[in-house]
Amino acid sequence: MIVVATTNKHKLREIEQILKVRVKGQAIRVKEDQKTFEGNAIKKAKAALKKTGQTSLADDSGLEVKCLDGKPGIRSARFAGPNPTSEKFCKKLLRVMKNSKNRRAQFVCVIAIAYPNGRVKTVKGVCKGKIILEMKGNKGFGYDPVFVPQGYKKTFSEMSSRTKNRLSHRGKALRKFKQLVLKNR
Ligand code: IMP
Repeated sequence: MIVVATTNKHKLREIEQILKVRVKGQAIRVKEDQKTFEGNAIKKAKAALKKTGQTSLADDSGLEVKCLDGKPGIRSARFAGPNPTSEKFCKKLLRVMKNSKNRRAQFVCVIAIAYPNGRVKTVKGVCKGKIILEMKGNKGFGYDPVFVPQGYKKTFSEMSSRTKNRLSHRGKALRKFKQLVLKNR
């Protein structure tokens, strides 16, 4: 069982599906005030380790949109105000990109792992793609209904979780994480 510093049930389910191990969500209260995904992921993993005493993993992720100079980026979770739904995230993004011809975007995920001996490691996964003009599909979470990965026609929301996990930023980061764990055994 791995402790994961999140209460986001979508992230937890994806992490469990990709790592193929049971994970335990740990609510932690930290201000995500670092300037990078790495900084925030490390801060969350360390806080969960401090709270549980167990090896802890954290995911900090977000969407970088080319025509918005990389925004919402590390602020992706706060882009649509408090308690946002997937619909709110997508509608706000579609609104601010209404007149944008360049629709290129990428999802980024940094996984940090904090060990009781004080060691901390990070791995990163990126998934390039584009933001389409309307919401499509009903699976997934966050910005999934408006994101189409490069080389594909469907949004993450229209894909099976298996296909999303194969292509996604989180899938890529977690497969690197698995390699790292195996190497350090
Ligand atoms: P945080 O990592 O808790 O700061 O939140 C990341 C935010 O980025 C989430 O609330 C989502 O809005 C968005 N996000 C991260 N990963 C995904 C994904 O796989 N699909 C859709 N949205 C995502």
